[in-house]
Amino acid sequence: MHELPELDNYRALLAEQFAGALITGVEITNVKAFQASEEEIQRDVVGKVLWFVERRGLHLLLHLDNGKRLLLRLGQGAYLYKGSEEDRPDRAAQVKLHFGEIVLYCVGLKSDDLQLLKVLEVEEKLGRFGYDALDKRLTIDRFIAAFAKKRSSIKTALMDQNVISGIGTVYSDEICYAAGLRPDAKIPVFERATWERLYEAMHKILKEAISHGGAGEQPFAAGDALTGGQRNLFQVYDREGQACPQCGGLIEKIEVSGRKAFVCSDCQKDQ
Ligand SMILES: [Zn+2]
Repeated sequence: MHELPELDNYRALLAEQFAGALITGVEITNVKAFQASEEEIQRDVVGKVLWFVERRGLHLLLHLDNGKRLLLRLGQGAYLYKGSEEDRPDRAAQVKLHFGEIVLYCVGLKSDDLQLLKVLEVEEKLGRFGYDALDKRLTIDRFIAAFAKKRSSIKTALMDQNVISGIGTVYSDEICYAAGLRPDAKIPVFERATWERLYEAMHKILKEAISHGGAGEQPFAAGDALTGGQRNLFQVYDREGQACPQCGGLIEKIEVSGRKAFVCSDCQKDQ
């Protein structure tokens, strides 16, 4: 699973390792994974410098020094690995970006997960999504306004990338728990104080998870001790039948709009 904290961990690692580095070659073993022609890749990617790495919602954007962007999406089971020809990941990579002797392996990519785009095309693709959950422009008033037309449960709306972007099934549960709010609580009854608790919980949970390296299952490189540090720190997610860290009661698994959700019924209320 890759939600905002896992992708932000990649953003920081990629920036640290590759910002300013020259892309010396691109190897593709599954042409469907990279939405660009061989000619475009040779012309617009090979020989270009990776200038800057950005994360927007659930996407990574690699800025090249010719103004083009590589838009990367990491689906279920996909991951990135920095190695060399000898130090390679266990699974086959669909795309390999070469930076001299260093190789960035992109593993588990599906159709069009990597795209070569112009700036305007990036805006067309990402412009429809809501504010990134950690965007500084997302004030409490804008946060409340983003949910204004929603009548669903709060978990479903938190996961809707058109409302705000970056949150999926894992962190929506953790955020609801930190806010003392049931994931199946219905939005129309919320008062301003409820939104304020949720807004604060969202920032706290996402920032803490980033500081722990997210919950990714694969290390980014040999000796990477940061990535995945969040995995054993979840309070409710995937902890059915275990004790609630706050009250000691049992955590239950429920279903919210067809998705599993984890909740402590003693600590989490309808508003
Ligand atoms: Zn509890």
